Amino acid sequence: MFTVTQHRLAPPVQQQPSPNFNAGRIIVPRFLVFHYTVIDFDTTLRAFGRSGGNSAHLVVARDGRVAQCVDFNRRAWHAGESRWQTWTDLNTHSIGIEVENLGWLQRRADGRFVSTTDVPVDAADVVEARHKNPGHPHRWWQAYSQPQLDACAELAAVLCAEYGLVEVLGHDDIAPTRKADPGPAFPLTRMIAAGLGRNDPGAEPPAAGALMRVVPTFLNLRSGPSKDNAKVGAPLPQDTWVRRLGLQGDWAQVRIEGATPREGFVWAAFLAPYAP
Ligand SMILES: [Zn+2]
Repeated sequence: MFTVTQHRLAPPVQQQPSPNFNAGRIIVPRFLVFHYTVIDFDTTLRAFGRSGGNSAHLVVARDGRVAQCVDFNRRAWHAGESRWQTWTDLNTHSIGIEVENLGWLQRRADGRFVSTTDVPVDAADVVEARHKNPGHPHRWWQAYSQPQLDACAELAAVLCAEYGLVEVLGHDDIAPTRKADPGPAFPLTRMIAAGLGRNDPGAEPPAAGALMRVVPTFLNLRSGPSKDNAKVGAPLPQDTWVRRLGLQGDWAQVRIEGATPREGFVWAAFLAPYAP
């Protein structure tokens, strides 16, 4: 468990000092703001290390490692033009955490997923979800890893307690027309609960269930996990890809994505791992 000593995490995490903060200026943080990096952990640290760029107080890698770039009582440069309720310029009022994640993804004609930086993402690591803010039409997102979410929850708890923070936010809350991060794959409600002990009735992000494909020529979709249950719409043609949400005996609960998503149960043995 971390503590905070002299505005740094203790025991000390990787120190990657960034020149991108306002020297000679002390802030009193009130908010915690989460972001995603789009680029990888090491590239993020290098970018923050170059003067003239951005910065954040902390960066959390996919494996759960944490690096500190700016002391918590210094004004880091992560929020840009921003507002929360009556507060503006959130850089002056917040601690910023960048979480290593590629953000929204494109699905290519061959079915493969790639980030905006052209990094391929395994289908099992893809979350389909709508963004809460209108104006972000993106549909596919890289899932966050469990180690980094565990680290984020611990950091939220420690920092909210240490600084008496009053809200845990996403960049997409404080700059909703400009920013989509940390996006719908990030469980902000978990961080709010960890930091503030408050369970917001927000929707948890969907789990990144395994992507599977239909093997036989046709496969019936049923409303429950047995042949006695009614069929749900037309049978699924071969090579339909579905998201397996769970297993009940020999049956798999699945969701069929698309313009009119359907959910139901299929005979699990008739699904194979999705391979584009
Ligand atoms: Zn951001």
